[in-house]
Amino acid sequence: MTGAADQVAEGTRFGQQMYELIERLYPINRSITGDGVRETLRIVSEVLPIEIREVPTGTPVLDWTVPNEWNIRDAYVADSSGHRVIDFREHNLHVVGYSTPLRRRMSLSELRPHLHTLPDRPDLIPYVTSYYKETWGFCLAQVDLDRLPEGEYEVVIDSDLQEGSLTYGEWFLPGETEDEILISAHTCHPSLANDNLSGIAVAAHLGRSLIGTRPRYSYRFLFAPGTIGSITWLALNEDRVGRIKHGLVLAGVGDRGSAAYKQTRRGDSEIDRAVAHLLEAGAHPEAVRAFSPWGYDERQYNSPGFELAVGCLMRTPHGTYPEYHTSADNLGFVRAESLESSLELCRSLVDLVERNRTYRNLSPRGEPQLGRRGLYPSTGGGPAGPDRMAVLWVLNQSDGRHSLLDIATRSGLRFELIAAAAAALEAVDLLAPSSD
Ligand code: ZN
Repeated sequence: MTGAADQVAEGTRFGQQMYELIERLYPINRSITGDGVRETLRIVSEVLPIEIREVPTGTPVLDWTVPNEWNIRDAYVADSSGHRVIDFREHNLHVVGYSTPLRRRMSLSELRPHLHTLPDRPDLIPYVTSYYKETWGFCLAQVDLDRLPEGEYEVVIDSDLQEGSLTYGEWFLPGETEDEILISAHTCHPSLANDNLSGIAVAAHLGRSLIGTRPRYSYRFLFAPGTIGSITWLALNEDRVGRIKHGLVLAGVGDRGSAAYKQTRRGDSEIDRAVAHLLEAGAHPEAVRAFSPWGYDERQYNSPGFELAVGCLMRTPHGTYPEYHTSADNLGFVRAESLESSLELCRSLVDLVERNRTYRNLSPRGEPQLGRRGLYPSTGGGPAGPDRMAVLWVLNQSDGRHSLLDIATRSGLRFELIAAAAAALEAVDLLAPSSD
């Protein structure tokens, strides 16, 4: 038997697989460089056969330079009896990302300027990094800081910050054309589930769903550290960046909020209109947000020198939920159902963009007689044909200037109906793809 029950089971299966991938990746300590990123990409490559690329420290990339590589083995603050009162091995967030190595005894007052807490969310450990200014520090819950007695502490950060490389992963699927669709997810956050293991998991499974297909567009999937990773990729690929026609940054796509989309810099790109159509933005205007030069790697892709049509798909927007960038963005914060729903939306988007073409009505003088072509349902039922209104809209608007998405938007009909009507009309030679 097929039907809704099977679809639910199938959906749960992918959602569960993405959740399990997040469970495996969550304990790994990632940063913008280092072995945690390599291990993450190695695990991702079990889902999607990405190529892993290493860019050496010191490589100039646009206005930046690939930084030293950071690795950390252990870090703690121990009291005079040797008891660890802050322990990196208990939570990756306990250490400020890119902390320089240190081994010293100091008083609590000396230590205090290097301790980061969230007084307004006293039970949570904050996520703090310092990539481009050398320093060190620890992060902890305010309630735990409040319990620390005065006294002398042993402070150890067993890390190194030295020449190495920046690591990113890339998967490319050639299509019928060289025009590309870019899917990008950042890989630099340590134990944070929604931001952005959710994006990594959905991107990996979206790519996996395309394996073995020969789409119209070529697809490029990028798993790279935030900011410096996309800047590095752009710098190394300047000559082919122009092939990217549409793109999507996936970030924060696993929480229980509903899907939301941030527009490209242009705001009226095809991908903006495609996602708005799928999110039914007419009825849910809050689902679409205007571009701003803040957020994730869409900032780099939309910089004026590139101006790539790359939007950002998320659920609850970053910075607006209390779990954001804290220890509460954990495995309990993301859900298989939300991951599944995000993946489905991405697949619908791919399907829409793949099928969105402009056609020409080959019998534009008056309405063609649809009945004798089996496209005008007679009374009394019969096999379900294309939607009658969709057929009429496609015929009316297909003058070589309106894409199927334009027609869906103007008619208020779902893209799926419009595309099915176009296929039926093409099959009876009433419609042909427009050459221009
Ligand atoms: Zn983040």
